[in-house]
Amino acid sequence: MSAAVSEYRLDGIYRQRQDGFFMQRVKLPAGVISADQARIVAAASTRFGKGTIHLTTRGSMEIHWVKETDLPELKSFLATVGLTSRGACGGAVRGVTCSSQGAVGFPAVETLARRLHRHFTANPRFERLPKKFKIGIEADASGRRHLIQDVGLVLAEIVDGIAHYDLYVAGGLGREPQPGFLFEPKVAENQIIPLIEAIARVYAVHTPAGKRIKHLIREIGEEEFRRLVSLEPSYLEELPPVTGLPETIVPVAGTRRIVAQVHAGELASDQLFNLARFADQFGGGILMATADQDIAFHVIETVDREETATALKSIGFGEQRVAFRVCPGNHQCLVGLSPTRDISKMLISQMGPAAKSLTWALSGCPNSCTQPQLADYGIVSSSLVKDQNGERTPRFDLYRLGEEGFGNAAERSLTLQELSGKVLEIG
Ligand code: SF4
Repeated sequence: MSAAVSEYRLDGIYRQRQDGFFMQRVKLPAGVISADQARIVAAASTRFGKGTIHLTTRGSMEIHWVKETDLPELKSFLATVGLTSRGACGGAVRGVTCSSQGAVGFPAVETLARRLHRHFTANPRFERLPKKFKIGIEADASGRRHLIQDVGLVLAEIVDGIAHYDLYVAGGLGREPQPGFLFEPKVAENQIIPLIEAIARVYAVHTPAGKRIKHLIREIGEEEFRRLVSLEPSYLEELPPVTGLPETIVPVAGTRRIVAQVHAGELASDQLFNLARFADQFGGGILMATADQDIAFHVIETVDREETATALKSIGFGEQRVAFRVCPGNHQCLVGLSPTRDISKMLISQMGPAAKSLTWALSGCPNSCTQPQLADYGIVSSSLVKDQNGERTPRFDLYRLGEEGFGNAAERSLTLQELSGKVLEIG
């Protein structure tokens, strides 16, 4: 890869598997996007890509099939509606995620997600980190997604209008999954940015290139890490309280959540246009990209259920789908080992009612972008093995979620046939 191409990463761009094409990721704080912004993403996918949008498990949107010469114009086009991709890939603070958009505590979480996004995005002090630095904020711990972040925040309480968060550090999936540990309970909102700065600085100074915080913790231990963080000037800093009008744009109280399920997170541009129109009509002009690669809306409770169901059905989102997270795999991703979308379709076609009622995730390589360790059944394309015809075919590890923490590998190195046999057994 040329220096210039690797430099694109900080602009949220990865080279695609197909020579000459690129993927542009768009950061959405807490997955929230306005209908006007969604229309620009849809239009951009047609103008610069092939008219498709991939929804990621971190609530971002990706446009594939972009030519290198179009990248600058695409960036400007997205910027016309305030969308940015800075830091969406590479060694930077990635998009701030949230998987609990429907929870009552979401307004506080959304507010903080926006502040963190504004503070760390394009902030040169926090670019060129050793590797990705992921922040996730949750209104509660039920989805366990706080455990997979470099910094995971869980809303603990709101006292006198000030939100406090349990702050977890050093989680991650990939080849060496490691749940984050509780670094500090009940951190007041105005101490969070300085504390994350201190953590990020220790990470940047003490970690070799290409490694995440979890690696540093394995090397130096929790105690030494805490000591180093405590030496940072911003460790105990308290920012002035933020005053002013509320920043949230997603209503929660008095609304009901409606989800348009999207198979494998693959949306056509006209579908996204239609969902933006639905948002204008029923959802206050707001869409939410969810951690399950769907699009959600908060609709005022009094709006007729039949009307919204009919409207969604009329644009092709009426049917209940299997909850199955899927990454682009070797359809587009440079390091993908298996055709994830094809495999997910094949597996779904074999599922009986028991399997269909569970959550699934399939990752095209051990990087585990679909968070397979957090699905009822998670599948990781773990390797390529030569078969008797000399052809390299993928092998799969099958994870099963337990009562707490991450799911564990119940089966390793299954062939596709063996994997589909396991799915049939589930029923
Ligand atoms: S899991 Fe692997 S194949 Fe899938 S998107 Fe992530 S890096 Fe690519």
